[in-house]
Amino acid sequence: MYSTNIDSMINACKIHFCLLILLVFGGNVFGQKYDLLIKGGHVIDPANGIDKIMDIAVNKGIIAKVAVKINEPAEKIIEAKGLYVTPGFIDMHTHVFVGPNAGLFADGVNSVSPDDFTFRSGVTTVVDAGTSGWRSFPLFKKQVIDQSKTRILAFINISGDGMTGAEHEQNIADMVPDSALSIINQHAETIVGVKIGHYNGTDWTPYDNAIKLARQVEKPLFVECHLPQYSLQDQLAKLSAGDMITHTYENIKERMPIIGEDGKVRPFVLEAKKRGILFDLGHGGAGFWFDQAAPAVKQGFAPNSFGTDLHRFSMNSAMKDMTNVMSKFMALGLSLNDVVQIATWNAAMAIKHEELGNLKAGNVADLAIFKVSEGTFGFTDSGGKTISGSKKLEMEMTVRDGKIVWDLNGLGAKKVDF
Ligand SMILES: [Zn+2]
Repeated sequence: MYSTNIDSMINACKIHFCLLILLVFGGNVFGQKYDLLIKGGHVIDPANGIDKIMDIAVNKGIIAKVAVKINEPAEKIIEAKGLYVTPGFIDMHTHVFVGPNAGLFADGVNSVSPDDFTFRSGVTTVVDAGTSGWRSFPLFKKQVIDQSKTRILAFINISGDGMTGAEHEQNIADMVPDSALSIINQHAETIVGVKIGHYNGTDWTPYDNAIKLARQVEKPLFVECHLPQYSLQDQLAKLSAGDMITHTYENIKERMPIIGEDGKVRPFVLEAKKRGILFDLGHGGAGFWFDQAAPAVKQGFAPNSFGTDLHRFSMNSAMKDMTNVMSKFMALGLSLNDVVQIATWNAAMAIKHEELGNLKAGNVADLAIFKVSEGTFGFTDSGGKTISGSKKLEMEMTVRDGKIVWDLNGLGAKKVDF
């Protein structure tokens, strides 16, 4: 009887001891354990004023904590010493409505499948520049957006079928704001604005309809086309703060370049920027010229966003990819901090997705982890000119939604020796 009581007391103590252990350490074992911990990287998060060595913890796809030292255990630890860690990059201008149709961007082979190109250059979000129109958006969503790991947002083309070739993009009857309204409202998170492009007529109806629609849904207008029939000055005069114009540093006969005869950014362009109009890079295959970009950057006229204009042709031209574009602008005089801010926070604000482009705890864990190599590198423009630069971004790892989606040197893989 006596010994039974002792035994039950001992058993009770064991249970209490176990409970105590669980209480003391259970938080770490069960509650506090992170999925991913990136340690010792140089974090640049312009939105939150961070530019120093810090740790970043990720849980369930969300930024859990950013601090100088995080000691709690994690499922996977990435040693990022010597690397930079920033929010995942946002490419403001892409054509990703890939499909079977020859010669077309919309549902065609001239677009590219985003996952094939994004993660290897740190891009976690692309904005499709009106490749789909209000009529073809549901197909774009089903065929590409829902099938991709890259986050895909979109400007919707005022032309119903989007970029289906010059002939189809001239039909004013198909550029009706009311038709587009319901599709924008149905997909208000994904559709970030309205796009006008590739119209050859001389009247302003498509432009005015696109503006009317953009104002109606309180989203920006994105102007891609060269629209030689309208002067650049008249186009900019129509735009309001927050609207975007792309191919900023283009120098082709179809559109007046932003640099005037005196070598300076034209006053009406400066005035537009001052009014809040946003200038996207829109590099593409023909949209980037050093004779425009070099003086403009020197005069303080940097792009608001680094839209690469990614498509089947631009990726193999001077553009290459987002990291090359960012390195090129460093060669032109911008700092690493500048190019990161343009590729992250500035872009996020422009599309009114302020949960992106920064590392605030609670936001989605999209990260770019890269090194900046030093040496002599060549960067080219659309006119066949080259400059050299001494720094180049090289993507080591990309994290999308808390998951490693690109890992060049196996930083997140288990090490083995043979
Ligand atoms: Zn484009």
